[in-house]
Amino acid sequence: MHALAETLNAAPAPWNAVFAAFVFFFGACIGSFLNVCIYRIPRDESLVRPRSHCPTCGHMIAGYDNVPLLSYLLLRRRCRHCGTRISFRYFLVELLVAVLFLLVWRQHGPQPRTPVYWLVVSGLVVGTFVDFEHLIIPDRVTLGGMVAGLLLSALVPSLHAGDVAIPFYIALARSALGLAVGVALLLAIAILGKLIFRKDAMGMGDVKLLGAVGAFLGWQAVLFTIVVSSFAGSVVGISLVLARRKKMQSRIPYGPYLALSAILWLLGGAELWHAYWHWLSGGIL
Ligand SMILES: [Zn+2]
Repeated sequence: MHALAETLNAAPAPWNAVFAAFVFFFGACIGSFLNVCIYRIPRDESLVRPRSHCPTCGHMIAGYDNVPLLSYLLLRRRCRHCGTRISFRYFLVELLVAVLFLLVWRQHGPQPRTPVYWLVVSGLVVGTFVDFEHLIIPDRVTLGGMVAGLLLSALVPSLHAGDVAIPFYIALARSALGLAVGVALLLAIAILGKLIFRKDAMGMGDVKLLGAVGAFLGWQAVLFTIVVSSFAGSVVGISLVLARRKKMQSRIPYGPYLALSAILWLLGGAELWHAYWHWLSGGIL
């Protein structure tokens, strides 16, 4: 695997562009599938059957009308048969996932943990867009993410070790620790919030989502995610209240902030975090 990584890293520039284009297109295709997940998972529908169809007229969507990104633009955002407007969300998710896949690729390159990070990003995107629409995060994303995080940590130990080789059971233990820290900390914050504000500040979905993040990315990612998401959440929340778009009492989904922060961890936040502690401890850590 290392030899492959070195070969790919040493590839001449035109090849890098070809790989990048391929990763972008691959991400757009996954984004297209995630759109199906975002629509069907909260409605308890099967992800494979029936094939994609227009929700208004029921017409099957032909393969040539289902090309990621392009079809939306070529069909001018309408169903070919009945002319119903297609939600902008379809285009947005395809583009977002394509860009995120490319950024993960640029940050981590050809390593065994890169496809795992693509999976993490995919789960976070589904959780985010379902949370926006339904104010829940599906168990298939959160509990499924915890199980997948534990299993994949045992299979790809480098998820929890950077470039140092560690045995699978150490990686599994770090994954379990991350899961436990994620669930325990957010549960404690949720209970405290309920005691202080006398209302549910946070849903169980958020607690389970951070558990899944910890299972994949470890306990330090959990701390980073809590710090960054509460900061981002307060900035946006206060702005919305000031702009009189929301009342102080209204519920703002927290899942998207957790997802955004976990993605930032993957895209360089981890390096910043380690550098910060190194500096703070005067080089001891
Ligand atoms: Zn239609």
